[in-house]
Amino acid sequence: MTVARKKEVRPNRASRAAVSARPQPKRAQPRLDPPKKLSKAELRDVERRLDERQRALTAAIAEERRRIDNEALPQLDADVGDQVDQAFVMTSVEMERGLIDRYTEELGKIAAVRERLASGVFGQCTDCGEPIGAARLQAQPTAVRCTDCQWRHEKIVDIATGAMAS
Ligand SMILES: [Zn+2]
Repeated sequence: MTVARKKEVRPNRASRAAVSARPQPKRAQPRLDPPKKLSKAELRDVERRLDERQRALTAAIAEERRRIDNEALPQLDADVGDQVDQAFVMTSVEMERGLIDRYTEELGKIAAVRERLASGVFGQCTDCGEPIGAARLQAQPTAVRCTDCQWRHEKIVDIATGAMAS
């Protein structure tokens, strides 16, 4: 089977000379478009999503608490379980407490975003003051830094916490 040779197209001498002789246009540094600010409608959408997320988190916390109180703790009190069962129950209680902590932390972030909305600084990077950008805010309404500053912030946290960083 023969493979068709790809024809190489080479510029001839004259055209190559022409290319090199042509003055290179002064190119401006490529600039990204400035991050787009959120419109009124997009802001309302963010607020609506914050409300939804807050309701979901509050419900999830109540559910984890209910599990601990109604399912896990009664099992620990019961005399029937052996040591392994007790260890298993303790592990799930730890997990549920971990979830509650995470949900609570996120509720705190939502409350902070609401304050930022109320004071008119929502969408402004807390580090550099530049707009965070609509796309980023829509993906993560609780973002308080622009992508650059967030990256820098996480690097600094990494260095500060060393191997502890997760
Ligand atoms: Zn920034």
